[in-house]
Amino acid sequence: MSKTWRPATQLVHGGTLRSQYGETSEAIYLTQGFVYETSEAAEARFKGETEGYIYARYGSPTNDMFEKRMCMLEGAEDARATASGMAAVTAAVLCQVKAGDHIVAARALFGSCRWVVETLAPKYGIECTLVDGRDLANWEKAIRPNTKVFFLESPTNPTLEVVDITGVAKLANQVGAKVIVDNVFATPLFQKPLELGAHIVVYSATKHIDGQGRCLGGVVLSDKDWIDENLHDYFRHTGPAMSPFNAWTLLKGIETLPLRVKQQTGNAAKIADFLAEQSKVAKVIYPGRKDHPQADIIAKQMTGGSTLVAFELKGGKEAAFALQNALDIVKISNNLGDSKSLITHPATTTHKNLSEEARAELGISPGTVRLSAGIEDTDDLIEDFAKALAKVSA
Ligand SMILES: *Cc1c(COP(=O)(O)O)cnc(C)c1O
Repeated sequence: MSKTWRPATQLVHGGTLRSQYGETSEAIYLTQGFVYETSEAAEARFKGETEGYIYARYGSPTNDMFEKRMCMLEGAEDARATASGMAAVTAAVLCQVKAGDHIVAARALFGSCRWVVETLAPKYGIECTLVDGRDLANWEKAIRPNTKVFFLESPTNPTLEVVDITGVAKLANQVGAKVIVDNVFATPLFQKPLELGAHIVVYSATKHIDGQGRCLGGVVLSDKDWIDENLHDYFRHTGPAMSPFNAWTLLKGIETLPLRVKQQTGNAAKIADFLAEQSKVAKVIYPGRKDHPQADIIAKQMTGGSTLVAFELKGGKEAAFALQNALDIVKISNNLGDSKSLITHPATTTHKNLSEEARAELGISPGTVRLSAGIEDTDDLIEDFAKALAKVSA
């Protein structure tokens, strides 16, 4: 494997382990366990004196291929594949904290991520402060002597705010805390949190990495020392391991990641520009547009726009529902990153559990809609929006 390979090559060939049969496509090793030639061989394997697998909860060949391919793409030394994105987030957070520690997290987080730090962690005596992550001063003010972890997502769900990752990492390094970045919205192609100074990156592989709506998955990536010291034992003994079948599905998905994300981003950008000109649309938030409120940070840390677009309809919830119901190609679904274009109304779905006030803080109004652009023909999607908008009363 060559370190100089560019992403499109890494994602087709990276990490491939061929069996004695020389198969072209990656094999699925659906096995729980592994057999040893002799008792001595088993003993040596358990002592860590020989390379090899022990039990699928610890690691297995198809999962290894997925982890290695992700490491290559991310520029990480090591990784663990998990059963879902939430298993990755929970493991990344909890494996490195203990009662009495403190977490600072951006308040604009994927709903379940926010639950893990805001509700779950305090049950075990781990304190958490949520901040408006857009302003570095808020991160700095929240630091306490026991702060161990900074957790953020950038761009955020659903209003595509961004956080200055390098800035947060500098603050964390001053106090010896670790920065975890949930990089789902940026995709591994458009943002490299480890290069920006973050210590740990997590993905829901369910999203763009599968990208075809088939299976759940997640991955935690970091340097080898952090994984050895923090995640290794936690992962083995709490059991968030990914199914080898899902690892295989994701390996096949990731081969086409650059092609899909390119088409999705192109579609998202053109739809964002189209929507920005419509009289029924109050505002459009798209990381690839110059009018994004944090365009300067985006230019500094991202190499592409986004496959997602957030926009607000002047007619509030009624208009948002009417638009969604009138769309034909674009489906109503809270998922994202799929090859099918999907649209959702956060206030009544993904963010319904937040108070009206908490939603307002995140910029989610009754008229806010989030689009995840698919890989369909651009003109068909624009026509779908034009027809649907015509049915929304002004
Ligand atoms: C979907 C998602 C998750 C959770 O991933 P699952 O695979 O659904 O468990 C976490 N963070 C972000 C930003 C997501 O979009």
